[in-house]
Amino acid sequence: MSWARCARGHHHWGPRGAAGLLVAADGAVLLQLRARWAHQGGTWSIPGGARERGESAEAAALREAEEELGIDPAVVRVTGSYVATCGGWSYETLLARAPRDLAVRDLAESDGHRWVPVDEVDDLPLHAGFRAAWADPGRALRDFADHPS
Ligand SMILES: [Zn+2]
Repeated sequence: MSWARCARGHHHWGPRGAAGLLVAADGAVLLQLRARWAHQGGTWSIPGGARERGESAEAAALREAEEELGIDPAVVRVTGSYVATCGGWSYETLLARAPRDLAVRDLAESDGHRWVPVDEVDDLPLHAGFRAAWADPGRALRDFADHPS
C-alpha cells in the first residue's frame, strides 16, 4: 500500500481509498488505540485501512477489523455507511452492530481498545480523520451509535 495525493494536495493512505468499521452497541462505540509506530499513533480511532484492488469498502473494513482487533466478521451486522471525500479520495465508514460481549483482542496496529459511551468520544485524543467524521454536522456516526440496536 502507499499514499495517494488527492486533488487538494493532501496525502491520504490508500490509492483506492480506505475504509473503517464503526461498531456500536448499547450507546457505546468500539474504539482502538493506534499503535505508537503507526501514522498518528497514540490516537483513538476505529479499525480500518486501505482498500485493496477490487475490494469493496465493506470487505476492506471487515478485513481490517479482523486483522487489527480479531473481530469475527460473522458476528458483525453492517447496517449502513458514511462516506467522507477529499479531493477525489474517499474514506468510507461502515456502520455496524455487534453484541457488547464481542470478542476483541489487540493485534496488528493496536495498543488497546475500549467501548466508549457516545458522549465521551470527543474527550479522547482522536485520530484527525475520525474526529472529522465524528464531528460531521450531519451527525451520521453519532446518531447511528445513539440509537438502540
Ligand atoms: Zn485530501
